Amino acid sequence: MTTRLRVLDDGAWISVDDHREVRVSELWRLDAPDFCGCDLADLVVENFQEVGVDGSRVEVRVYGQCIECGASGITGWLPVGRVRADEFVELDRSCVRRERRE
Ligand SMILES: [Zn+2]
Repeated sequence: MTTRLRVLDDGAWISVDDHREVRVSELWRLDAPDFCGCDLADLVVENFQEVGVDGSRVEVRVYGQCIECGASGITGWLPVGRVRADEFVELDRSCVRRERRE
């Protein structure tokens, strides 16, 4: 099984197996102490930088801005969903996302 992951439209969409699945302008909650000083950052996702897969876990690096403190920048790898039986299942939008530790 191969999963085709792409960033489309200058970072506006993530495509999984040629379906547009996730778009920017969402608000994600991050537990990412390296990104800003907030305990939980409220990140406006402005641009997808890279998409990858780690096992069944689909991950992205995004450019965004924390609406709590105003910090902006590029995150580490964050989970966006899973591939299960060839189907992409997006993470619940209200979940708290943690950066993968290298
Ligand atoms: Zn912040």
